[in-house]
Amino acid sequence: IITKANELFFLQVYEYDEVMFPKNVRCSSCDLRKPARSKHCSVCNWCVHRFDHHCVWVNNCIGAWNTRYFLIYLLTLTASAASMAIVSTAFLVHLVVVSELYQETYIDDLGHFQVMDTVFLIQYLFLTFPRIVFLLGFVMILSFLLGGYLCFVLYLAATNQTTNEWYRGDWAWCQRWPLVAQPPSAEPQVYQNIHSHGLWSNLREIFLPANPHYEKKKK
Ligand SMILES: [Zn+2]
Ligand SMILES: [Zn+2]
Repeated sequence: IITKANELFFLQVYEYDEVMFPKNVRCSSCDLRKPARSKHCSVCNWCVHRFDHHCVWVNNCIGAWNTRYFLIYLLTLTASAASMAIVSTAFLVHLVVVSELYQETYIDDLGHFQVMDTVFLIQYLFLTFPRIVFLLGFVMILSFLLGGYLCFVLYLAATNQTTNEWYRGDWAWCQRWPLVAQPPSAEPQVYQNIHSHGLWSNLREIFLPANPHYEKKKK
């Protein structure tokens, strides 16, 4: 959180790109100078350094100092959903193999003997173990959703972008380079991320963020 006490420190952390974050802008709510990459959170009503997004699940802003915890949280959440899916699948497969269900036959509506097929097997398992099959379906969907979101968050971490910057990227680009103002021969202009300095440097920034208390102790 940016306050009067740490404002000066945060102003020096990141360079202004003059596209998304222009210099010498004050936050209209806090009346503090806005450091580059910061944003005022309307839910929490304070300015956050390296603002990513306001997370409704943890009911807090995700910014410079807690992006690492958010990443670990998402990673463990995905891992637990995926392991539940693996354990439930292993249980059902084991059950089918041990009871040799796939070798069974059944009598259909017309009175004919039928060999067990996959659809009938799933139907049988659902009727016999409804909670386990329902749980499996649920954790599988959850694993895919969380896994997809985790990939997106890892991509942002690796390329040193915040969700806020990723979202605003196209918008800022359009403002700076409106289509009408561009001559037809002009090369397409791409918004340059000035904060990315290689994968390890980007990850280090998330796991060891700049900290004014730490700076003070060092002196
Ligand atoms: Zn503010
Ligand atoms: Zn917030």
